[in-house]
Amino acid sequence: MLEAEPRLDAAAPLVTSVEADVVVVGGGFVGLWTALTIREISPASKVVVLERDVCGGGASGRNGGFVMSWWPKIASLLGFMDAEQALSLAHASECAIQELGDFCEQNSIDAHFRRAGWLWTSTSEAQGNAWTATVEACSKLGVSPFERVATDEVARRTGSSIHRAAVLERSNATVQPAALVRGMRKVALKRGIQIYEKTSVLEVSQDYPSIVRTETGQVRARAVVLATNAWATAIPEIARLIVPVNSSIIVTEPIPERLRSIGWTGGEAITDSQLMVDYYRTTRDGRIAFGKGTGALSRGGVIDGTFSYHADSCSMTERDFRRTYPMLADVRLTHAWSGPIDRTYDSLPVFGTLSGTNHIHYGVGWSGNGVGPSRIGGKILASLALGKKDEWSTCALVARRARTFPPEPIKYLGGSLVRGAVRRKECREAEGAVPSMFDVTLAKLAPSGLEDKA
Ligand SMILES: Cc1cc2nc3c(=O)[nH]c(=O)nc-3n(C[C@H](O)[C@H](O)[C@H](O)COP(=O)(O)OP(=O)(O)OC[C@H]3O[C@@H](n4cnc5c(N)ncnc54)[C@H](O)[C@@H]3O)c2cc1C
Repeated sequence: MLEAEPRLDAAAPLVTSVEADVVVVGGGFVGLWTALTIREISPASKVVVLERDVCGGGASGRNGGFVMSWWPKIASLLGFMDAEQALSLAHASECAIQELGDFCEQNSIDAHFRRAGWLWTSTSEAQGNAWTATVEACSKLGVSPFERVATDEVARRTGSSIHRAAVLERSNATVQPAALVRGMRKVALKRGIQIYEKTSVLEVSQDYPSIVRTETGQVRARAVVLATNAWATAIPEIARLIVPVNSSIIVTEPIPERLRSIGWTGGEAITDSQLMVDYYRTTRDGRIAFGKGTGALSRGGVIDGTFSYHADSCSMTERDFRRTYPMLADVRLTHAWSGPIDRTYDSLPVFGTLSGTNHIHYGVGWSGNGVGPSRIGGKILASLALGKKDEWSTCALVARRARTFPPEPIKYLGGSLVRGAVRRKECREAEGAVPSMFDVTLAKLAPSGLEDKA
């Protein structure tokens, strides 16, 4: 995806010693929103972004481009905050979708922002109406972000009768994520944020101010924000909160005529209700981008080839695409890639400040829903970095007692065992067969998914 972006020249690496009020490590959506928000609320602050690749080289430049809210996670939010806070955060996540669209418009970023809604569907008997508990939880709170869609309409709108039932969350959008992240980078540079690319941070000193060392330079800063997604497993305190898991995407050749013939013309983002979720959408040039959260793990949580191109995961993704759209069996695939998801146990992010410091902050655990919510992440991290006591820095996502994963190698070995069970279980269910009790039992140990399911 990122390769499609014009003029992908990297900014110069850091080769000297510089001073900053805030240094942000990581130039994805979270890092860039943080930097942009800091400049917005404190225009005099000197902000430096350090990125080991180019901005968007991580998950932000290669995701599915679903811009979602936290309404599907309302039950998880209610698990550690009161109803008022949960409502406020879920509302904020819905508003973030429009804010993202407005940002693109105001800054002339053509990120293909399209607000055509998200269909949360069921594609097997086992998936049932997975959204029931979520819809009920919303209704108890007096809100109704989801609309029921009649069965024949689901099949008609998605272009495949494999979809048996669905709800629609109308507020959701899609974007071309690489265009968005590169547009954000351009705005950041224009607003005076200093970006150094091809610059890996090797060490962050805990003293105040911190010295952030790279191979060829250093930044001395009063506040540090770690926005390094799954790469944050390099920091033991954060490694306990997340497990890097694979998500993979395949893309078809342009097939606008075929999309018209099957009736999938509304631009809806679609997911099924598997834990290893299938997520798919159409693109502006009439392709299908079809992704799957395959959950493949790497030994020790190291960000290796598992998270750039993982052949087994791409095959699993293609198999699900062919099953979902059998009438497109002859359609060629032109692209396939993988990326890292920083999954937490409840699939909601965690914000905090490294122990023993007051000035090194982090925001990780987007769990496959970071395109829209990273806008909120930027507000939270900006407030933390500027030492502001406000609705963002004091919200319940900050310093929450998130469930932790066991240390390596148990995390990898146990995770692989559970993943195997989920994979076998969901394969059987997709065939309409009954999975083994062993797999069903083991699969229950898996972390929560993209949505809270019944
Ligand atoms: C295949 C795939 C599909 C997805 N689909 C969706 C979707 O449809 N909708 C959705 O909402 N979310 C989706 N996600 C998740 C979403 O992409 C992420 O939640 C979001 O991009 C996170 O942004 P980020 O800034 O935290 O991470 P990133 O974009 O990964 O940014 C972190 C950056 O830190 C840099 N970095 C790491 N270590 C260092 C270091 N030591 N020094 C300097 N820089 C460093 C990395 O190079 C990287 O650029 C998907 C993810 C993947 C992988």
